[in-house]
Amino acid sequence: MSEENQGSSALSEQGTISISSRELGPLLDVLPDALVIVNQQGTIVLVNKQAEKIFGYTQAELQGQTIEKLIPQRFRQLHVAHRQHYSKAPRTRPMGLGLQLYGTRKDGSEFPVDISLRPLQLDDQPHVIAAIRDVTAQRRAQRERMQQLQQIQRQSEIINLAYDAILIRDPIGRVLFWNHGAERLYGWSTQEALGRIANTLLKTRFPDGKATVNDDLEQKGKWEGELIHSDRNGNMLIVESRQVLVRDQATNEPSAVLEINRDVTERHRQEQKQQAVHAETLARLSFLREVLDALPNGIQIVYGPKARLLLANRATHRMWGAYWKQDQPMEDFLKQHNIHVLDANQQEMALSSFATLRAARKGETVLYHQETIRQPDGTSLPVLVNAIPVRKKQADISFLLQSDTESVEQQQLAIVVYQDVTPLKEAEYLKDEFIGIVAHELRTPLAVLMGYADTLLVQSARGHGAPLADWQQDALQDIKQATERLVTLTDGLLDVTRLQAGRLLLHCTATDLDALVQRVASHLQQTTSQHQLEVHLHTPAAIVYMDPQRIDQVLTNLIENAIKYSPQGGPIWIKVRTNPEQQTAIVSVQDRGIGIPKRQQGQIFGRFMRADNAQAWGITGTGLGLYLCRQLVERHKGQLWFESEEGVGSTFFMSLPLLSLRDEETSPPTTSAN
Ligand code: ADP
Repeated sequence: MSEENQGSSALSEQGTISISSRELGPLLDVLPDALVIVNQQGTIVLVNKQAEKIFGYTQAELQGQTIEKLIPQRFRQLHVAHRQHYSKAPRTRPMGLGLQLYGTRKDGSEFPVDISLRPLQLDDQPHVIAAIRDVTAQRRAQRERMQQLQQIQRQSEIINLAYDAILIRDPIGRVLFWNHGAERLYGWSTQEALGRIANTLLKTRFPDGKATVNDDLEQKGKWEGELIHSDRNGNMLIVESRQVLVRDQATNEPSAVLEINRDVTERHRQEQKQQAVHAETLARLSFLREVLDALPNGIQIVYGPKARLLLANRATHRMWGAYWKQDQPMEDFLKQHNIHVLDANQQEMALSSFATLRAARKGETVLYHQETIRQPDGTSLPVLVNAIPVRKKQADISFLLQSDTESVEQQQLAIVVYQDVTPLKEAEYLKDEFIGIVAHELRTPLAVLMGYADTLLVQSARGHGAPLADWQQDALQDIKQATERLVTLTDGLLDVTRLQAGRLLLHCTATDLDALVQRVASHLQQTTSQHQLEVHLHTPAAIVYMDPQRIDQVLTNLIENAIKYSPQGGPIWIKVRTNPEQQTAIVSVQDRGIGIPKRQQGQIFGRFMRADNAQAWGITGTGLGLYLCRQLVERHKGQLWFESEEGVGSTFFMSLPLLSLRDEETSPPTTSAN
C-alpha cells in the first residue's frame, strides 16, 4: 500500500494504521489497487473488489484461506518463511525488492505483480495490508524497451564499424550520437561531443549558408554536399556530408538529423594538385604552341609507322596548303588534299623516301632532305626537311597527349621541321645565273689563252721563230696548266648551272659499261707513272642505259680523284660487278690515299666542298667534281656513295640500273633534270 493510500484513521507511533474492519470494508473498494489483508497467521481476512477481479476468486472463497493460496506453488514455502520474518518487525515497504513477484489466479494462471506491504491494526489485532498491482502490461513494455535497446546497441556497433563519421543531432543541433568514425575524424570523444552543438563544435562552414541546408532538410528531408569542418586541433577538414531529417512518427515533428560525413580532404588535395598540374601543363602547352606558331618553319610531331600527326604549328598548314588533322596518317592527308611531294629531281617521291616517314617508321635521322611540296592549288614549294626521331625514354611528351591518343606513348615519334627555301632557291637561281654568265664569258678568252700557249710551245719545239729561254718555256707551261685548270673550273660551273636550271640534257643509249670503264682507266693510266690502275671487269659485260659522255665524266672524276688524293702513289682498283637482286651494275674505285676525315664525310658531296686534309697536302681542286658526279648519277636513277678512312684510303661506289627489256621498249629514264 502506497503513501497516498493512507486512510483518515489513527496513525500509531510506528506508522501503523489502526482501524476497525467495519470502517475499512467500504473504503477498500474505492481504491484502484487490489488489496488483501492478512492476519499474523497469514490468513486472509479481507479482500477488495479489485483483488477478486485480478485473482478470479470471490471474497468468500478467499476469506479464511492462507495468503499462499494467491502465490504460485513453487514460492509458497519460501513465502511462509518471509511472512513470519516480516511479522516480527512489520513496516511499510515494497515486497521482494529486486525480485520478480508473481500471483496465481483461481484458474492456475500466473501473472507478474508489484506488492506493497503495510502493517495495519485491524480490530486491534496486528494485520498486514498488501496492495497488489498486476504489472503484466508494464513488464511487456519493459521487455520491449530492453529489446529495442539491445537492437540500438547492435546497430551502433555496426555504425561504429563504419569508417565515416556518423552523428545524430537533435532539432536544435545538440549531438545525441557520435560514432567511432566521428571520434577518429574530429578528435572529440563521444563523451566530449554528446550534448554539444555540432556546428559550433566542428566550426562548420557551409557552401551556401546554413539556412540552405536547413531549408533542404525541412523541405526534401535530406541534404547532400561538401562542408568544411575543423577538428579538435583546429585542422581544416573537407567532408562529403549526407544528412537526413528524422521525424517523430506520432507528431511528424522533426526529432533528429542523421549526418554521415566522409573525409575527402586528401582527395581534394590530390584533385587540387592534379588541377594545378593540369593547368600548368595546359599553360606550358599553349606557350609551346605560341612559340611554335611564331616560327616561320613548319614544325610537326608525328607518331607511328603511318606518321600520324600529333602536333603541328601554324606554318605547317601554310606549307602544305591544307589543314592536317590531328591523328590523321600522312598518306591519307596527302591523298585527301591531292598534295604531291617531289624529290630534288622534281620526280614524284615514293612515300618510303619521305624524310618524315623514314624517321617515323625506321627511327632514321634525315637531315637537309630536299623535297618539293606541290600544294592542292598547284603551287610548288621547295622545302628542306629535317626529320629527327625521338626516343620514347628521351622525352616526356605526356603533356602533349590528348584523351584519344594514349596509344602514342608506345610508338615511335619524330619531330619534323620543314623549311621553306623558296627565297634561298631564288637567290641560288640568281647566283647560278650569274656564275653561268661569267663562266660562259670566260670560255672564249680561255680558249684564246689555251690556244696561244699551245701554239707557242709547239712552234718553239719545232724550231719556228726565235728560240725560247728556259724560264720562258717554264712560264708558258705554267700558263698552259693554269688555263687548263680554269677551263675545268668553268666547265664544271657551267654544268652546275645547267643542272640547277634543268638545262642539262642526257643523251642516253644502251652502253657497255665494262668497255667504258676500260677506256677511261687506260686513258688515265697514261697520266701517271706512280699509280697502277688495276681493272676488274664483269663478264658478261654490264649493259646500262646511259649518257656515255656523262658517265665517262663521272668515272674520270672518280679515278682522277683516286690518283690526286694518293700523292705517294700506289695501286688503284677499279671493279665492275652486278647486283642481280637490285638489277644494278656497281663500279668501285678504291685507293690507298689520304682518305676523308670522318667529320667531313657527310658534306663531301656538297658544292665547293673540300676536305681539310686535301688542302693540307696542297692538292688543288674546286670541290665541284663530286657534286656534279652525284647529280649526274642520280639523273641516271643511280646512286653514288663512298667508304673512307683518313690515312688509309677511300672507295667510291657508283651504281646504275642494268638495262632491262622493258627499258629498251620504253622511253629513256631521264633525259633532263626537269
Ligand atoms: P676536288 O676538285 O676538290 O677534287 P671533288 O668534288 O672531286 O673536288 O672532291 C671533293 C673533295 O673530296 C676533295 O677536295 C677531297 O677533299 C675529297 N676527295 C674526293 N675524292 C677523294 C679521294 N679519293 N680520297 C680522298 N679525298 C677525296
